[in-house]
Formats: sequence, structure tokens, C-alpha cells
Amino acid sequence: MTKIVTLPGDGIGPEICAPAVELLEHFVPGVEVEEHVFGGASIDAHGTALTDEVLAAAKTADAVLLAAVGGPKWDTTDPSAPRPEQGLLGIRKALGLYANLRPVRPLPALYDSSALKREILDGTDMLVVRELTGGIYFGEKTRTETDASDLCHYTVEEVDRIARVAFEAARGRRNLVHSVDKANVMETSRQWRQVVHEVHGADFADVQLEDQLVDSCAMQLIANPTQFDVIVTENLFGDILSDAAAMLSGSLGMLPSASLGNPDGPGLFEPVHGSAPDIAGQGVANPLAMFLSTAMLLRHGLAMETEAAALESAVDQALDAGLRTRDLGGTAGTDEAYAAVRKYL
Ligand code: ATP
Ligand code: MG
Repeated sequence: MTKIVTLPGDGIGPEICAPAVELLEHFVPGVEVEEHVFGGASIDAHGTALTDEVLAAAKTADAVLLAAVGGPKWDTTDPSAPRPEQGLLGIRKALGLYANLRPVRPLPALYDSSALKREILDGTDMLVVRELTGGIYFGEKTRTETDASDLCHYTVEEVDRIARVAFEAARGRRNLVHSVDKANVMETSRQWRQVVHEVHGADFADVQLEDQLVDSCAMQLIANPTQFDVIVTENLFGDILSDAAAMLSGSLGMLPSASLGNPDGPGLFEPVHGSAPDIAGQGVANPLAMFLSTAMLLRHGLAMETEAAALESAVDQALDAGLRTRDLGGTAGTDEAYAAVRKYL
């Protein structure tokens, strides 16, 4: 039997998770869905963002569906206090999830919601592959009264394996990889560039590889997004670039992601956006990124390509028929958005 662990988390998380679970039940008859507290909600209940019990449950699941964590309630300047984001970093690390895949494909129906002009957007279809387990997120952190530092660290193995994910993905797409770094300034970037080229030369010479500095990439994403197929980059750059790329899609509320790595363990599927505390509890959150993350779960986590495509198509059709949540300039609430998508299943 298929078992999915759901982690609704904080803020709008529970609001967008509930309909996503209904979609799972629709597409996977008899699915066992096990819900757990996570993030800030888990800090409130257990004093830690990720309990051993939740981690153990996740490890035995076929896939994990996560909504969002964090919020001002848990903001603190005390470095020893538990923080919701630790749950996210912890579960990614413990499940060996080193590759975060974020597809960006602005839908023609939403071109007018985008920050960019239709002419610039038309034909944009990219996949941002972000390294998840290394870099400045995990390096040593220090802080005194007068200074602070975050260490950026990468091993050759970490770069090698993420490069392979990007090249493999490109083979199923337009065969082009942009490797994004800051090799003019950072030592980790210089080694990143060298390792990516070694992997390319050894096993992926059929794929076209371009190096790009992260500042240039940020500019090109806005100026000429259609040039990109697969972008592969380290943790922090990937966080920033994929939020920028998200705006091409009209709203953060439209962007799904998958975190993969260990072929024998579950993947983690979650929207790119955060917990949106400013709109939590109002029933106005856009659930489409969560639904599209559910589609990625069906595709990558359960090998149910037909069902994944059906769900994506239902989202497309609902938008084509005029569905617009507030972040897309409309008035539809979360429930209305769910009902609109259900019509096309
Ligand atoms: P995090 O640090 O967790 O990534 P963040 O500070 O980047 O969070 P988000 O929580 O992603 O911020 O929210 C950024 C803005 O986008 C907020 O104004 C929020 O209301 C809006 N937003 C995010 N997700 C959605 C959504 N699903 N529907 C509507 N608006 C959203
Ligand atoms: Mg963010």
C-alpha cells in the first residue's frame, strides 16, 4: 500500500494541504495518508521543529508532502532557540535529499500576471536544479558582539552528484545546462566550476554546458528567460534565483518543487513559497503550487506520470477558464480554486 506522510506545517500550510490530500486520495485509491506536526507547530507541541517520530515516519513513507513552515511567532535573536526552518533543513539532510528541482513554465493564461512582458516570456520553460545540502546554509556559524560569520563549504562529491542530476534532467529536455557560480570571487565556486566540467567531460559531453556568473544569471533571467533550459547552482544562489524565476510565473503561489536524492528513500514535495503569515487563516492562499507539487509527487515519488499530467492539465484548464486567486489579481479563495481544479479532473 502507498503511504504518504503529510506535513502541513505553519501559516497557510494547513489551508493548502487539506485540498492537496483530497487530490492524493482521488488519484491514489486506498492511499494511506499520515499527517504530522512540523516546523513551528512542532516547536509549540514538542519543543523541536522535527521530532524523531516524524523523521521515522517519513523514512518509511513512499513520499513526503510538505506545505510550509515558519512565521513571526518563532522569530528570535536567541541562537540557541529552536527555529521552524531547522525542521526543513534537518529532514532534507536526514533523507539525503540533495537536489531541489523547481520547474518554471509560465502559462500563457497568466502572462498578464507576470512582472515581465508577454514577448519576453513567450516560450520560457526552465528547470532550476538547486543543491540542497551544502554551502553557507550548513557551514559553521559564529557571532560575537562585534562580528558574525557564515562559512560556505562544499565537497567535490556534493558538486559531482548535483551536476549529474542537472545533466540527466537536461537530456530529457533541451539538452542545455547553465552552471551558475561566482567563480570570480569565491573559492567554492572555482572548485564547483572545475568539478562540473569534469563530470561533463567524463559522462555528459552530449549536453551543452555554459558557465554563468550568478549576477549575470539574475539579469538574464529577467531580460531573456527563454535562453535557459536547466540551471544548476549551489544552495544560496539557487534559493535566490528560483524566487526570481518564480516571478516569471506570475506568483510565488504557482511554483512547485521536488527534493530528490536517495533512490531508495522518499522524495520531499513542497511549494516554493513560504508560510505567508500575512494572509494565513483568511482562506485566500493560492493552493496551485501545492497542487502542482502534488503532481510532482505523483510523477517522481510514485511513478504515476499519467495522473501527474492529468492534475497539471486540470490546473491549466482552471486557469484558462479564468480562475484567479488574489496573488494573481483575482478574488478567488482557496476553496474556490480547489473546486475550479476539481471540475477538470
Ligand atoms: P520563507 O522565508 O518561508 O520562504 P518568505 O518570507 O519568502 O517565506 P512567503 O511566505 O513565501 O515569504 O511569502 C512572500 C509573499 O508572497 C507574501 O506576501 C505572501 O502572502 C505571498 N504568498 C506566498 N505564498 C502564497 C500563496 N500560496 N498564495 C498567495 N500568496 C502567497
Ligand atoms: Mg523565501
